[in-house]
Amino acid sequence: MRKTRTRALPVLILTIAFFVGLAYFVFNLSVHSAEWVSMPINGHLSDTDGLENAGMILDRNGVVLAQSENGQRIYHEDYDIRCACLPVVGDNSVNNATAVQTVYRSDLSGYNFVFGLGLPEMFKSGKNITLTIDSSIQKAAYEALGNNKGAAVLFNYQTGEILCMASTPTYDPENKPEDIETNKNYDGAYINRVLSAAYPPGSTFKLVTAAAALENIKDVEKREYDCTGSDVIGGKPVNCFEVNGHVDFKDALMTSCNGYFAHLAVDLGKKEMTSQADSMGFNHTWKIDGIETAKSTYDVAKANENDLAWSGVGQYTVLETPINMAIRSAAIAGGGTAVKPILIKNLSASFGIAAPDRESQKTKAMMDADTAKKLAEFMDYTVDNYYGNGNFCDSFNVCAKTGTAEVSDGGGDAHGWVTGFTTDEDCPLAFAVVVEHGNSGFGAAVPVASAMLNEAANVLRD
Ligand SMILES: [Zn+2]
Repeated sequence: MRKTRTRALPVLILTIAFFVGLAYFVFNLSVHSAEWVSMPINGHLSDTDGLENAGMILDRNGVVLAQSENGQRIYHEDYDIRCACLPVVGDNSVNNATAVQTVYRSDLSGYNFVFGLGLPEMFKSGKNITLTIDSSIQKAAYEALGNNKGAAVLFNYQTGEILCMASTPTYDPENKPEDIETNKNYDGAYINRVLSAAYPPGSTFKLVTAAAALENIKDVEKREYDCTGSDVIGGKPVNCFEVNGHVDFKDALMTSCNGYFAHLAVDLGKKEMTSQADSMGFNHTWKIDGIETAKSTYDVAKANENDLAWSGVGQYTVLETPINMAIRSAAIAGGGTAVKPILIKNLSASFGIAAPDRESQKTKAMMDADTAKKLAEFMDYTVDNYYGNGNFCDSFNVCAKTGTAEVSDGGGDAHGWVTGFTTDEDCPLAFAVVVEHGNSGFGAAVPVASAMLNEAANVLRD
């Protein structure tokens, strides 16, 4: 008897451990199974598998961007639309980590908790996903980016709907290039640069420094400065692209005088500059319908005075994603607060429409309402008196700021940037464009913004 009892105890412990483990597994399975099934490590889904009978992906107007027919995944018939939409839609693989076909694969494939993917075809209910993007604006941005590497994003700052999110280089999902891993022209082709790439923002960052100055330095708008093209701050030079001459706040922003804003950054100090950058989306990631973005970074903890000066004009170690830049332009347009961008218009199953899982639709205040109003006026003034509204779009009133960002590693020409928004009530649009090594914000990025805005005017004002 004694012997049996001593054996029964370990058996009992093992039995309890088994049921506890089973319960833990079932709990995790129920919570995470849909996520696990679409993980890249799950070979079962790593190719066309799971997409053979998957739901459709449509643009905002019902244009079918991807669908399954006879076990094959097929994409839009137009080559440029296929390439233009790839960074958003993805291909059959899961290499494009932020693409809808990767992130939403279990919804598309009709994964079911009880039956897994093993449900008979007739009972499978893969959802269709309608995106907020417009495939013709997407195509216009892709064509304007041409052979450059870069990114362009356009969204409605009142509804959050992303109308265009283009990234190059890209490729044809129906005919993936064999040399994609080795050909330099395809560097980063799996990355959606709008969400996942961060670059020095250059002069577009003067909007952040300007906001900090307007909120912390009394009468800063009256501050004047004589620019000779170069100044010495913290014992080292801060150069301008040209001699800006005698400028006040508004004209320093318009002509993009580095000396003026470098002095402001030093006067504001590390704490105020960091606090303003944090409010404007730096050192923080965004989630766009479950798709996580890269972080924009502003870190001056180890900066000396000259570094701090350069940080105020978007150089030093400052990095920003195109999506963050578009969101802060949206906040300027929106009185200090932005509506967060969204990409999924709806997910429709055979049992009706399911709303995507969303947090609050508004960002925290990125700046005071008065500051936003002033920056909007200055950006409007800059377009009217310096860039020319017609260089963007004759159909909209555009407010903008360009940037030409030096590349610190000596890797070629500077990156060209532009960000801004329209003030038209029927088409409230915020945008950001970067052209890698484009050498000039005005020369390289403005034409891409213009292509997006002109096509948006065509399709939204038909
Ligand atoms: Zn200057």
